[in-house]
Amino acid sequence: MASLSYVSDEVNSPWATYLSQVERVLPYLGELSRWADTLRHPKRALIVDIPLEMDDGSVRHFEGFRVQHNLSRGPGKGGVRYHPDVNLEEVMALSAWMTVKCAALNLPFGGAKGGIRVDPRELSVKELERLTRRYTSEIGSLIGPQQDIPAPDVGTNAQVMAWMMDTWSMNVGATTTGVVTGKPIHLGGSLGRVKATGRGVFVTGRAMALRMGLPLENCRVAVQGFGNVGSVSAELFTEAGAKVICVQDHSATLFNANGIAIPALIEWQKQHGSIANFRGATAVSNEAFWEQGCDILIPAALEGQITAERARKLMCSLVLEGANGPTLPAADDILRDRDITVVPDVICNAGGVTVSYFEWVQDFSSFFWSEDEINARLDNIMEQALGSVWLKAQSLKVTLRTAAYAVACERILTARKERGLYP
Ligand code: GLU
Repeated sequence: MASLSYVSDEVNSPWATYLSQVERVLPYLGELSRWADTLRHPKRALIVDIPLEMDDGSVRHFEGFRVQHNLSRGPGKGGVRYHPDVNLEEVMALSAWMTVKCAALNLPFGGAKGGIRVDPRELSVKELERLTRRYTSEIGSLIGPQQDIPAPDVGTNAQVMAWMMDTWSMNVGATTTGVVTGKPIHLGGSLGRVKATGRGVFVTGRAMALRMGLPLENCRVAVQGFGNVGSVSAELFTEAGAKVICVQDHSATLFNANGIAIPALIEWQKQHGSIANFRGATAVSNEAFWEQGCDILIPAALEGQITAERARKLMCSLVLEGANGPTLPAADDILRDRDITVVPDVICNAGGVTVSYFEWVQDFSSFFWSEDEINARLDNIMEQALGSVWLKAQSLKVTLRTAAYAVACERILTARKERGLYP
């Protein structure tokens, strides 16, 4: 297999991680593996320059990306990330994981992702708005409610989606709410969307814990990342009787053997912007996070966090991947050999894109559902997806990740095969 000319040979890059995950599923795809090369080739990648006039009058340029990895099953779907480490290969991997995720959940979408190489915390609100509007205009020809639908990811939120929706609508001359999801509620957003990813982590985690005979009452949970995904999953596990004993974010690692008061920590983080100096826990070293004895570990930050070295140290029985791509392939093998179950990102954190799908459906029918209805449908879809992946894993005797890839890639490649090649 020839590698792409625009890809580095870095072994632990997110794209390399994704390629090894694809490699592992090939033996289980039968004659569909003839089409597997399509998974190794992003369909379309756009790099844009975003010039931005700063509040002080100077001009800075930022790199922006939108990648559509695969559109065989429907329009592209996937978030937009604002982070200083964003690059083309990362966006490619994130878009590919969206292809697999949407197929694993059987949502009628392909996979896409976007991003800007920027630290949004360094920009004023006005600068962030101008940056977002220019980025949206630059990628405007690729996106659209039937082409490719962006959503929030790390560093973006409902306000950013509102600016994107407004900019795209202005450029086409008609308000088009369905061009992005994760919008504010009164702009065509969906109830339940903000908490959906964390909720999905909890629901799939609970379903897996049940299968493993692990009671949630007093179960010890450690969470890396205290953004939208980490904080909501911590909250839901606490409400279910579990104890969140360790939390890490970019500023600190906090430990409390009796369980950290999560509502108080959420309040603290809202006021101070990070979890550092919270009084209800002890600060420990960053690396100590991976060595805490716990039952459930939730990486809910960035890629590549569970390295082989950390995988050897982990003292948990269940890993719930709230983040995209948090586990390196070598670590996956170690966790399998150590009998540590991993609910993979493409199922575990799919609650967000599932409610994005509900939002998109509500937008084009202009008929909005209640929060209870949304949560009930979400829980049902997530539990069913986990159930069928679990059965697949049992029958193939593979990890849940390879089983999820088997279910998803079968759907993607069948669509590919049935559509045929044009011309
Ligand atoms: N950024 C989220 C993810 O990684 C959600 C994407 C979406 O809602 O389209 O799954």
